[in-house]
Amino acid sequence: MMLDYDVKKNLQEVLATLPEHVRLVAISKYHPAEYLQAAYDEGQRIFGESHVQELQRKVEVMPKDICWHFIGHLQTNKVKYIAPYISMIEAVDSMKLMAEIQKQAAKNNRTIDVLLELHIAQEATKYGLTPDDCRKMLDEGLWREMKNVRIRGLMMMASNTDDETQIRNEFMTAANFFDEVKARHFADAPYFDQRSWGMSDDYPLAVECRSTMVRVGTRIFGPRVY
Ligand SMILES: *Cc1c(COP(=O)(O)O)cnc(C)c1O
Repeated sequence: MMLDYDVKKNLQEVLATLPEHVRLVAISKYHPAEYLQAAYDEGQRIFGESHVQELQRKVEVMPKDICWHFIGHLQTNKVKYIAPYISMIEAVDSMKLMAEIQKQAAKNNRTIDVLLELHIAQEATKYGLTPDDCRKMLDEGLWREMKNVRIRGLMMMASNTDDETQIRNEFMTAANFFDEVKARHFADAPYFDQRSWGMSDDYPLAVECRSTMVRVGTRIFGPRVY
């Protein structure tokens, strides 16, 4: 199959601009497996998807050494489907979801890495924890009993705007909040080290603002066909 986008070239261009300590999550939602395979053949091993059914289909046909990240809003009742293999659940925004991840991870005898999703952007969305909610959740400490869930850091999406100053402010708010949480709860936890921010339009800015993990889709695979 001919691809409409030069996935290999795009991928190499993105990788060339990323410092070594920044991981690339190739966001492949809504793109067919051929596109993922092209990136895989270039060496890409971390892919991000946001719908459980679509993810399941791709897991079946793609090579087994891929690290899959779930980046979308995850319904509690769907955790069980991805728990056997998911590498990281990036957008955890409630204790209820975390408790279900713990339950399903334990059932599968594994530990699942998660990020806490912060809501900092101006946009109204029902997803993500405000910094205050996040503080409360961590202070309550229930998560400390969840031995099969490992909180690796924070994830956020900046506002969808051309205002670079605003985007930078949002990223820096997240970066500073990371430092606060790290000092208060994870000072002795070297694994709490991930800051997932930056998408196709703003990842260079995100890297300047201490991102360790960028989630890039369109820039690699072209526009999504919904
Ligand atoms: C779709 C998506 C991305 C990738 O967006 P692009 O603009 O295509 O790079 C990143 N993060 C999340 C949470 C997404 O849903």
